Amino acid sequence: MLVKTRGLVTKAVNFGEGDKILTLLTEKYGKIQAMAKGARRTRSKLVAGTQLFCYCDFVLFKGKTWYYIDQAEIINTFHKIRNDLVTLSCCTYLMELAGEVVQPGQAPGRLLKVVLEALNLFAAGEIGPEILLRAAELKILAYAGFKPQLEHCVNCGGASRAGYFSPGSGGILCPACEKSDPYGYSISQGAISVMKLMMGWRLKKLDCLRVEQHILKELEKIMRAYVAIHIDKDFSSMRFLNSVKNKVTGRLE
Ligand SMILES: [Zn+2]
Repeated sequence: MLVKTRGLVTKAVNFGEGDKILTLLTEKYGKIQAMAKGARRTRSKLVAGTQLFCYCDFVLFKGKTWYYIDQAEIINTFHKIRNDLVTLSCCTYLMELAGEVVQPGQAPGRLLKVVLEALNLFAAGEIGPEILLRAAELKILAYAGFKPQLEHCVNCGGASRAGYFSPGSGGILCPACEKSDPYGYSISQGAISVMKLMMGWRLKKLDCLRVEQHILKELEKIMRAYVAIHIDKDFSSMRFLNSVKNKVTGRLE
């Protein structure tokens, strides 16, 4: 049976002599895996449209266990992402995260739109990569049902000024409830405000947001713990991003 859907290549793994196995985030069918037969052969019509980050109109043949890619008509390749190693690592991580939180058979809806918007903005290069990464990460998590609670204490619902974030409880804790999670982190009011802005604003609006480096570091630490607990996956792309950042310290201002 042939089916058509728009989709984004979130992972591409070489297979056999000249094939690829792709993970696609599709508009109609959510996350699927698809075999691209012969896609690594230079004369294949599938060479261009089966690269990581390609957004295509796909025609797929639905087999018993696999989808097979019949056609891939490119809408966008976001090729400028590949010009910069930090940008490339950030986008690879977002692909992994999005691929992890969307389930097979679940249409990704706004989550796919926010991922595409993030790729467009990373390719344009006008917003600092770390600001864009944190904001896109928060939005992906929110659309997947993992929105951190920042308005009031996640434990008692109290509205007193919180300065503690509990990744395990999923949000901020008031001073009276801090002891309920010894594994949480102090969080500044500045970091809470930035997180709220990142979740509330459209990504493209972030070009006018200036965030101090110490707040970005605070957010990185908190979000790493938050993702580790709620998504429970070791992201190889995040490890790679950190190694890249260590080599280009100062780039992510
Ligand atoms: Zn409380």
